[in-house]
Amino acid sequence: MQALEALESNVRSYSRSFPAMFSRACGSIMWTEDGRRLIDFLSGAGTLNYGHNNHDIKTAISQYLASDAVIHGLDMATPAKLEFMTSFSSIILRERDAKYRFQFTGPTGANAIEAALKLSRKVTGRQNIISFMHGYHGMSLGAIAASGNRFYRAASGISLSGVTFMPYDGYLGPAVDTADYLRKALVDESSGIDCPAAILVETVQGEGGINVAGEEWLRSIQAVARDIGALFIVDDVQMGCGRTGEFFSFDFAGVSPDVIVLSKSLSGYGLPLSMLLIKEELDAWRPGEHTGTFRGNNLALVSATAAINIFWRCRTFSQAVHRTADLMRCRLEAIASEYGNSFSVRGRGMALGFDCQMAELAAATTRKAFEKGLIVERCGPADQVVKFLPALTIDLETLNQGLDIFEECLAEAR
Ligand SMILES: *Cc1c(COP(=O)(O)O)cnc(C)c1O
Repeated sequence: MQALEALESNVRSYSRSFPAMFSRACGSIMWTEDGRRLIDFLSGAGTLNYGHNNHDIKTAISQYLASDAVIHGLDMATPAKLEFMTSFSSIILRERDAKYRFQFTGPTGANAIEAALKLSRKVTGRQNIISFMHGYHGMSLGAIAASGNRFYRAASGISLSGVTFMPYDGYLGPAVDTADYLRKALVDESSGIDCPAAILVETVQGEGGINVAGEEWLRSIQAVARDIGALFIVDDVQMGCGRTGEFFSFDFAGVSPDVIVLSKSLSGYGLPLSMLLIKEELDAWRPGEHTGTFRGNNLALVSATAAINIFWRCRTFSQAVHRTADLMRCRLEAIASEYGNSFSVRGRGMALGFDCQMAELAAATTRKAFEKGLIVERCGPADQVVKFLPALTIDLETLNQGLDIFEECLAEAR
């Protein structure tokens, strides 16, 4: 570890929270070089929804590698890309009213967000973007301009503009409907807020503290966007690909975003792959207007196709995720209730947050958890929320082991 610390930039972060040399991983377990076994409730911040090194996805990419098929071809046509788009269309996009086009962007979520914002500005001829307080959309300048966190914003070293922040669902407490406030501010010709090109929203704010947007609220936000001629963009980078139980996190609300942003678990294997789904009539790009060297890399498209075929052909997997999510929530609520009203549990599907209220308590709990064999991260404006993102494929025994460790460490930390 010391050798690594001497070589790697001070910017490294997770290696500080989880100080160990990780050498192997399978499903929900990671092993360190010195033989420790850790349960993974972090899942690459939502990148490993199907666990580490899923056997069947691994087989698909091993075969692809062995066949000398094209790995990198910029955005040239390959059978791997065509197969991904046809599988995704027939399995995930079937039964939808809207027709979507695929745009493969550079490999990060941030680059896909950049593309979505650029497209909305291009389509509408407007500059402003509505984003939400506590939102997180990535680290490049356009994406960070739409993200709330001051620490990250300050690191940009330049003024960030073109975004107006609005209160998210529940931000002002249960009595205030922040969607009404948004409508009022955007319809009012004299509110001082420029007409936006897009409203950019997460259905559950992952980094922002597992804040959950309700069904009615999401529908209202979509309606406001339609009424004022702005694009409705859902950032499903972290909450998509089954995290909340359905493939898309907004499905439960019956909304139909103009642009959907996917990344993290899209490749199903931790390989970098990001894309936009754009409603056909909004595909206003001119050829090459948003480019990049690593767009839709073929190996990641192969693993993504395998993941779609393995997990999403029928409802069985989604139903299992909902069941596991219910068990997880029940246990976390039971743990919270042991302490009266000090703590709260929130989230949707298998994205759950345990709000410790106090940052020090959340920090002490996750530090102890790591010592006892559980990798779990914190989120929220003060990092006061313990964030549970286990693999969607986790078995109940491992899930309960991890929750046991959390329960024990919370009690000790308190
Ligand atoms: C992680 C994340 C991003 C940024 O993705 P990167 O690959 O880290 O650039 C954007 N939006 C959300 C909601 C995310 O969780």
